[in-house]
Amino acid sequence: MARRHLIIGGGTAGMNAMRTIREEETERSTITLVSAEKPYSRMVLPYYLDRSIAESHVFTATARVLADWGVTTHLGKRATALDTKTNVCTLDDGTAVEYDDCLIATGSSAVRAPVPGADGPGVHSFWTLEQARGVLGQIRPGSHVVMVGAGFIAFTILNSILSLGAKLTIVEVAPRILPRMIDDTGAALVQTWLEKNGVAVRTGAKLTRIDEVKGRRRLKMAAGGDLVADVVIMATGIRTNLAWLNGSEVKINQGVVVDDHLRSSVPNVYAAGDVAEGRDLISQTNAVHAIEPTAQEHGRIVGANMAGKDVRYRGSLIINIVEVCHLDVASFGAWDDAKAETMSGVKADRPAYRKLLWRGDRLTGAIILGPSTDIWTTNDVGMLKGLVQSGISLGAWKAHLKKNPFDIKPAFIATKTTSTLLPETILGRPSKAPGESPVAV
Ligand SMILES: Cc1cc2nc3c(=O)[nH]c(=O)nc-3n(C[C@H](O)[C@H](O)[C@H](O)COP(=O)(O)OP(=O)(O)OC[C@H]3O[C@@H](n4cnc5c(N)ncnc54)[C@H](O)[C@@H]3O)c2cc1C
Repeated sequence: MARRHLIIGGGTAGMNAMRTIREEETERSTITLVSAEKPYSRMVLPYYLDRSIAESHVFTATARVLADWGVTTHLGKRATALDTKTNVCTLDDGTAVEYDDCLIATGSSAVRAPVPGADGPGVHSFWTLEQARGVLGQIRPGSHVVMVGAGFIAFTILNSILSLGAKLTIVEVAPRILPRMIDDTGAALVQTWLEKNGVAVRTGAKLTRIDEVKGRRRLKMAAGGDLVADVVIMATGIRTNLAWLNGSEVKINQGVVVDDHLRSSVPNVYAAGDVAEGRDLISQTNAVHAIEPTAQEHGRIVGANMAGKDVRYRGSLIINIVEVCHLDVASFGAWDDAKAETMSGVKADRPAYRKLLWRGDRLTGAIILGPSTDIWTTNDVGMLKGLVQSGISLGAWKAHLKKNPFDIKPAFIATKTTSTLLPETILGRPSKAPGESPVAV
């Protein structure tokens, strides 16, 4: 069994891996963590932005916790090279760390639209804590914020920007908002909802440059109608942090290609989270899912395997859930599968929308939206996720859902989906009550 574990990246995947190694190992090993940033959760940054949590609450492990776990840390340092022949990782200060096995969990970084002025003052990304500090320091009540990009991450911070009293305009180059999360029908309903809530939305709008004019930013749009902003947030995508692996033996496609144990092409090198191209639960093909649940599950699986267990991963489910101005919007699994049989229903006045995608009598994907105040929206979000995740056979309930795609609950209960899902745990063993750790594991 490997005695010296090296974890590169202290985000969600890295933290879950370290915790799981300690839970699962039979003999105490050494763990070394190299991380460019102190461990924190990016997913809670929207709550830091709207000031509902203090900055100290974004961190996932203090120095004390890491010391209690017996982890040797190199924080604020970057891995710059991995020699998989000698099992040595080199850091940006020249330190060489030897390992028996290692985990690549270096996540992703925000990418800005390639236009002149994109790196100028007053133009921000929102991916790291430092960037969140920059945005928080600039938004004042009445500020005009222009968000470039209308993807999932942009939508996670939309409520926070509004709660700071800012005026918000969203600019999206694609013909619709949330292009990688929901379909045309859903996007049109969400856009109308946002506009009713005072958010200006421009789709099919191409930004060509950003200039500074008297301390403000002027955004030049290809079709005219330039915008003037106090703060610009570029939510224009992310890129995996893998350039440092150039020249290593590790096979990279969109991300680090991993097998069903999350091992890379080099058997003692694992990858997890945003950087890993692992199995998708529905298609059973490899994909990069840059989402929190995948990073958590990957981290758990890798941690167990590093600790000497033999845990196979069934694959990760795409889960996108966001709430904007009290409208819940979610999609699961293969929501955009053009070959699937689909059924849908719209109640434009609520607004409410359900789209169900089928392979045979199993749900393989779903889109759902509706007001958060409608209890059935919130319930259906959870039940649809459960039906897609379990892959349960719906039999005659398929015909029922075809007639009424809003009536999810009877199908969910009759097929005993809860009792199918409840015993399933990621490590294939029953969960243990909280002991030393604050949560059940
Ligand atoms: C504002 C915001 C909201 C989000 N909301 C959601 C949400 O609601 N739902 C959801 O599913 N997902 C959400 N996400 C995405 C989610 O946070 C990521 O998918 C998740 O953090 C990925 O975890 P990870 O461990 O792979 O990478 P990260 O959490 O990004 O951690 C990577 C770590 O590696 C370090 N690192 C990078 N390069 C190096 C290097 N060369 N050497 C050493 N260390 C390095 C980084 O500093 C970082 O500590 C959100 C993200 C943001 C920014």
